Amino acid sequence: MSAARLTIDLDALARNHAALAAAAPGAEIAPVVKSDGYGLGAAIVGRRLWAEGARSFFVARLAEGQDLRRALGDRAARIYVLDGVGPDDAGPLAEADLTPVINSLACAWRWRPTGRPAALHVDTGMNRLGLAAADVERVRDLPIAHVMSHLACAAAPDDALNGQQRERFAAVRALFPDARASLAASAGIFLGEAYWFDAVRPGICLYGGGPRERPDPRFAAVARLEAPILQLRDLKAGDFVSYGRAFVADRPMRIALVAAGYTDGFIRGAARGKASVCVGGVAARVLTVSMDMLAVDVSDATCAREGDPVELLGQNAPLDDLAAAAGTVAHECLVRLSSRAERVYVGAVD
Ligand SMILES: *Cc1c(COP(=O)(O)O)cnc(C)c1O
Repeated sequence: MSAARLTIDLDALARNHAALAAAAPGAEIAPVVKSDGYGLGAAIVGRRLWAEGARSFFVARLAEGQDLRRALGDRAARIYVLDGVGPDDAGPLAEADLTPVINSLACAWRWRPTGRPAALHVDTGMNRLGLAAADVERVRDLPIAHVMSHLACAAAPDDALNGQQRERFAAVRALFPDARASLAASAGIFLGEAYWFDAVRPGICLYGGGPRERPDPRFAAVARLEAPILQLRDLKAGDFVSYGRAFVADRPMRIALVAAGYTDGFIRGAARGKASVCVGGVAARVLTVSMDMLAVDVSDATCAREGDPVELLGQNAPLDDLAAAAGTVAHECLVRLSSRAERVYVGAVD
């Protein structure tokens, strides 16, 4: 191996899709492929998920919807655009056969003249996008094909807000008896059947993250980032590594300089949180992260040689552990994976 490589395992994606279908039997799995399929390529991810039976997809932006429509060609997928209808968006949305998610009265008025179906996002407590429940009466004459809301605290199953949001959503949903309904994203699915309604909208679990922000063996890593060891170096106690003496050795140790850095999407703050990577099957702590290089402690990985691949993210270096070390969420770790690393897809696309 001579440079960083990002391997995207479409069979792992398919297994995660199946695991979600098993977790919410009877509910439609409507994958969320916003932000270019969480950085992994919405076109390819969307096609594979279609092959796995997915028929409804969620994106954030109009342009993402247009790209996905093009990628799916004549496959008759329902593509929902979470952003809704911007001032000039009604025409382009209709032209690409996209279904906007109405978030406000302004969105509703812009979409009404098209006469086309829409989804309706009702805020039930998150205070992000969504129509206020008090305004729902004013859009009841629109052809609402799907009514949805979003849970703020689903990763914390004991939070009382989950049940409150569910109750509020059930009340709104009853006003649209002919529409399909969805409330749960990845974490919400695991709150139980009462949260499934007709469809669920998983994102992160499809891509290998756990629903509770920690590694979960039910979900396989889809993205694997690897890079070769450029150089090995022995340090004495008191020797330092990198800018501003970022790391100071408190004992003799062997380090490896690895050919990936924050340009490749390895979040710089992960060193402070004691992230670890995998070298020849052995965990190696990340000491420093710079633009093009990581320094890792390979004192225990005695087999490490220059040129050997290091797994920076993947089955042996879990996404949720990296996210925790970096003080962020798995979603951000994935979307940071930049285009510099060579991308390889494994598994069938269609
Ligand atoms: C991003 C998003 C999802 C998917 O969330 P995950 O945590 O990745 O499963 C579902 N619904 C809405 C409205 C979203 O914005």
